[in-house]
Amino acid sequence: MISRMARCWGCWLVVGALLVPAGCKKEEPAEPASPIGALAEKAAEVGETTVAAVLVRADKVDGAEDKVVSKCAGCALAMDGSPDHTLNAEGYTLRFCSAECKDRFAADTTKSILEMNFPED
Ligand SMILES: [Zn+2]
Repeated sequence: MISRMARCWGCWLVVGALLVPAGCKKEEPAEPASPIGALAEKAAEVGETTVAAVLVRADKVDGAEDKVVSKCAGCALAMDGSPDHTLNAEGYTLRFCSAECKDRFAADTTKSILEMNFPED
């Protein structure tokens, strides 16, 4: 009688041991500590990558990958830039056709780079 009871409790222990880990696995993973901070970091990363990508593309338009954008970025790279009107951004030298183009571009350099027009657009 005692041994039969013991075997019965043993069964329950086995069932319990199987159920507990299964229950644990159903729990949702913890939320990141600061989702907004993580998003802002991600956005900043994407922004930098995009600015760099635009500059690499603009640099190739004049046919030489020399980190000098010799066409005027303020005129959709259609006009020749002048060494008299230059702007430095992210290690690139941008040459503009006129002081007006340079000043307009320099008012918000990052935004201007992101909104830069290309001849093939
Ligand atoms: Zn221009």
